[in-house]
Amino acid sequence: MAWVIDLDGVVWLTRDPIPGSADAVAELRAAGHEVVFVTNNAESRVSELEAKLAEAGIEAGGAVITSAQAAASVLDPGSTALACGGPGVVEALEARGITVRSEGPVDAVVVGFHHDFDYARLTAAHRAVWQGARLIGTNADPTLPTPEGPLPGAGSLLAAVATAAGVEPEVAGKPFPPMAALVRQLVGDGPHVMVGDRPSTDGLLAVELGARFGLVLSGTTDAGDLEGEEHAPDRVADDLAAMVAAELGG
Ligand SMILES: [Mg+2]
Repeated sequence: MAWVIDLDGVVWLTRDPIPGSADAVAELRAAGHEVVFVTNNAESRVSELEAKLAEAGIEAGGAVITSAQAAASVLDPGSTALACGGPGVVEALEARGITVRSEGPVDAVVVGFHHDFDYARLTAAHRAVWQGARLIGTNADPTLPTPEGPLPGAGSLLAAVATAAGVEPEVAGKPFPPMAALVRQLVGDGPHVMVGDRPSTDGLLAVELGARFGLVLSGTTDAGDLEGEEHAPDRVADDLAAMVAAELGG
């Protein structure tokens, strides 16, 4: 069995590791479970996420999947793309053998979260789509949780491009099939356990994978949000440590 573990709100909260996560991952591996980390963070390079895991005391083991990789996976090697995103998007596209250009015409525009989104980048993305490029979003999360409250997320940037271009974007990250396909490539069909803090992305990815869904309350969802939840979790726990203890304990 593999454990598919979300990063933000599960392993860490913005900069801070969530206590007990490193020991929980070590316990899972000691019990013979494979561990895969999945994140809708498309801004960071994989090496940066691996370094952050190492800082939290967790060996990544080559098992970090980002929504930038999911977006790149829907494009053919040898094609061209405009990256309306951060370094993670550029890295994922180049790793797949896609030529990254700064303006159209291109085969696809890939939009991911980045801090330096502005009118010039919106215009370049819009023009490329208007010239015929596919519009692909790394993820559609409307907001990005921070300790100071939510900030506009990748979905907000994607909506700006989609609105200007008048098209419906394809979305690749959690909970959509391209992300699920990357998980299956790494750990097969399951049965798996998906642990995350957002029913709308992690819970639906669990459905897509046919996995158990373990909802943790260490991120964007708290106990007060649970009532009337459409995609009921198989188990709710305070954090990853409590989830692993409960699942391994039977
Ligand atoms: Mg999360």
